[in-house]
Amino acid sequence: MRILLVEDEPDLGALLQRTLSREKYLVDWVQDGLVAWDYLEQQWAEYSVAVLDWLLPGLSGIELCQRLRQKRCALPVLMLTAKDQRSDLVLGLDAGADDYLVKPFVKTELLARLRALQRRSPSFQPQHIQIGRLVLDYAISGIATMNNSGQRQSIPLTASEFRLLEYMMKHPNQTLSRDQLLTQLWETDAEPISNVVSARIRLLRRKLADCGCAAMIETVHGFGYRLVG
Ligand code: CA
Repeated sequence: MRILLVEDEPDLGALLQRTLSREKYLVDWVQDGLVAWDYLEQQWAEYSVAVLDWLLPGLSGIELCQRLRQKRCALPVLMLTAKDQRSDLVLGLDAGADDYLVKPFVKTELLARLRALQRRSPSFQPQHIQIGRLVLDYAISGIATMNNSGQRQSIPLTASEFRLLEYMMKHPNQTLSRDQLLTQLWETDAEPISNVVSARIRLLRRKLADCGCAAMIETVHGFGYRLVG
C-alpha cells in the first residue's frame, strides 16, 4: 500500500515516514503543496490514501483536497491539523477530506484511521471507461473523447453531463429509466426540475452528434434511455 504524506514540519514528517514504513506502507513524503500536487496529478491512482497537513507552503492541504475532488478523484484523504475548532474541521470535510486527525495524535490512532480509509480506497477503480469509440478519462475532468480513425476529438461536458454519461457508460446496452438517471443528476436534497433528464440527454446527443455518434443514445419510449456500444 502506497501513501502520499504531505507534511512540512521536518521532524514530524520524518517520524511519520519511519512509523508508516515500519508498518509496511510505501511512503512518498513531500513537504510542499505544489510538489504534492505534481505527485497527485500524475499518479494519484498509485496511492491508497493521501495524508495532508493543513498548513503547507505552496498549496494548503485544503486546496489540494479541493483540486482532487474537482478532478473527480476519489482518493481517500486524511487531513492533519493543529486547528481543533469546529468550523475549521467542517471546512476540511466540505473540501472533500474523508477524515481528520488533530495534532498531537498518537501513532495507534493514525494507523487505525488509515486502515479504515484503506478499506474505502478506490485503487481498484478503473482510470477510464471506454464504450466503442467513446472514452471517459477520470484524469481529465469535464471532457470525454471520441476516437475517430486515430484522431481524438474532445467533447466538453458540464458536471451533470459528465455524471450522466459516466453512469450510462457504466451500464452499457441497458435500458435506464428516467428516475434512475435523475438520481445521477441531482443531489438527494435538491428539488429536481421536470424534464431535466430529457433536456440533458438532448444536449449530450447533440455533443455526440458533433463527433458523428448521435445514435449511441437510444430512446426507449415511455421508459428511458440506453447507451449502445
Ligand atoms: Ca504545516
